[in-house]
Amino acid sequence: MIIVMRTGASQDEVEAVCRRVVELGYQPHPIVGEFKTVVAAVGEERGKADLRLLEAMETVESVMPIQQPFKLASKETRSEPSEVRLNGVVIGGGRVVVMAGPCSVESESQVLEVAAAVKAAGASILRGGAFKPRTSPYAFQGLKEEGLRYLAEARKRSGLPVVTEVLETESVELVAEYADILQIGARNIQNFTLLRRVGEMGKPVLLKRGMATSIQEFLLSAEYILSAGNPQVILCERGIRTFETSTRFTLDLNAVPVLKKLSHLPVVVDPSHGTGHWDLVAPMAKAAVACGADGLIIEVHPRPEEALSDGPQSLKPSKFAQLMRELKPVAEAVGRSL
Ligand code: PEP
Ligand code: MN
Repeated sequence: MIIVMRTGASQDEVEAVCRRVVELGYQPHPIVGEFKTVVAAVGEERGKADLRLLEAMETVESVMPIQQPFKLASKETRSEPSEVRLNGVVIGGGRVVVMAGPCSVESESQVLEVAAAVKAAGASILRGGAFKPRTSPYAFQGLKEEGLRYLAEARKRSGLPVVTEVLETESVELVAEYADILQIGARNIQNFTLLRRVGEMGKPVLLKRGMATSIQEFLLSAEYILSAGNPQVILCERGIRTFETSTRFTLDLNAVPVLKKLSHLPVVVDPSHGTGHWDLVAPMAKAAVACGADGLIIEVHPRPEEALSDGPQSLKPSKFAQLMRELKPVAEAVGRSL
């Protein structure tokens, strides 16, 4: 941290700040200029008081961090990209990984039908929600454990690993019994108890960015999972809230290169929630791959007009297959495969 003293601060005042820095467990290095003095405070920050509290001192003008507040998620800690591996699928390697399936598991036949279709089109992971976070308490809330059983059956028949959302700490163990990847939804991004709990499980976690979450907050949420002992975190950009109303959310593709610059964790993009409309999914999926996403998560429904959730943004299997064909040259153009 750099502590900037007020203009004209006396030597005594600088020394008082240095003493406080030592008390808080850091080493102070004052740099005295003609008009301004700054104190560089060095030392491991984890588990110690935040030096920004020194801004409360009248002699201090500001305190500026020089390191990122997230540590384990940061490139400063690990420069190599990390890979999440499951059943032969590698997320964060040379191949763009596509996860696809319905928003909600609605019946056994629906999920089996989608699983076979997305597999035939080249998807490597099956998505599907059994526990659904819905804005309205009157909307379909998911088939819960019954839905998890259908997902497990679809995995058995298709061989595709399953990603599904866990909504609350009480059901983490249940969902983990069935899921290959635990999904933390946008609305739970700062449910720190849930993040810690999935951090204690040995399973990969797909962490979706909240709709009003800054990149720094997003990475600090990832840090909760990593610091609980689980290195298998996949970040997912799924759109944020802006003033724009012509799409459901604004898919922040800036987040992909920004996250890649700051972190070693794999990044996937959800163009279904990010746009809210099926005809915008393909162009934004291609854009996501072009800007460096390690994967995509896409909603597919055999009959979107009958879907119990997110029908307007769901692709029919034929449209999904077409998108997979069109994505191949995009991936190859940026040095990846599909
Ligand atoms: C979902 O994947 O169906 C979902 C609810 O996503 P999000 O948490 O991004 O809204
Ligand atoms: Mn959905």
